[in-house]
Amino acid sequence: MSAPDFRTDWIWRDGSFVPWQDANLHVMSHVVHYGSSVFEGIRCYDTPRGPAVFRLDDHLRRLVESARIYQMALPYDVAALADATRELLRRNGLREGYIRPLVIRGLGALGLNPAASPVETFLMCWPWGRYLGAEALEQGVDACVASWFRPAPNTFPALAKAGGNYLNSQLVKMEAARNGYAEGIAVGPAGLVSEGSGQNVFLVRGGVVFTPEVDGTMLEGITRDTVIRLCRDMGIEVRETKVPREMLYTADEVFFTGTAAEITPVRSVDRTPVGAGTAGPVTRALQDAYLSVVRGMSADPWGWLDPVPWPEPEKVGVA
Ligand code: PMP
Repeated sequence: MSAPDFRTDWIWRDGSFVPWQDANLHVMSHVVHYGSSVFEGIRCYDTPRGPAVFRLDDHLRRLVESARIYQMALPYDVAALADATRELLRRNGLREGYIRPLVIRGLGALGLNPAASPVETFLMCWPWGRYLGAEALEQGVDACVASWFRPAPNTFPALAKAGGNYLNSQLVKMEAARNGYAEGIAVGPAGLVSEGSGQNVFLVRGGVVFTPEVDGTMLEGITRDTVIRLCRDMGIEVRETKVPREMLYTADEVFFTGTAAEITPVRSVDRTPVGAGTAGPVTRALQDAYLSVVRGMSADPWGWLDPVPWPEPEKVGVA
């Protein structure tokens, strides 16, 4: 097997750093059979003041909450995981990239009650560019409405970022790809817009920004929250509400938000152009504000950037 491009030197496994190739699981681990894991997706940006992780504590808090929903006894708190994350980035020399905390049910039980399976925690990271392609941030992407629905409330807890939830996401994404779209937008059981396979969805109509309310069918995205707060700061009216599917076809602008996708304009839905078929002015303004904050190019009054202290480069040839 050639080295995948997500290979680094080290993975953090329950308190120690193990070489990448040694971070293995047994095939009879509970997670392999039943999707029993919770995880996070976080980005680190190389800012002018050094590497910084965007909303690290908020992501780790969501990880702790996801574990709690599934009664996984996570022996680390947010502060311990944050320290380990910063150390992982330094050890791997990764100034900019993606961070993936993962909590699994390991080798122990094979029945559905996972109590006998040990909870194991991993932190990994890798370089990751633009999730939906280099041009997506500029030009926007073509999306479709998926034929697959998001699970109903009180089936799979959507507020937990759990491995098993992503079987639904894979169906949405594969259907989109098969039909020539970059992304799929799924509706919930009531037929209202829920979210993309791995992003939240926003619309702009008459200068007002709309996004589906937290309704038990979607993940409460941290980028979603960031955009809502940026809108309020920028004096843009924003409404968390019910979004009927047809609003996707009448909106002036549509965009996705997510740690991986950042703010990606949607230029068409089901082959119907959105607005003028290019990124609209509100999307652009929010994208600019977002990218300047995460890249450390503007002030951060919210304290969203978590600096990663980096060792000074060795001074060569200094007397
Ligand atoms: N919905 C789903 C299903 C996701 O996987 C993600 C990515 N984590 C999001 C929304 C966006 O969440 P965030 O902004 O916290 O990355």
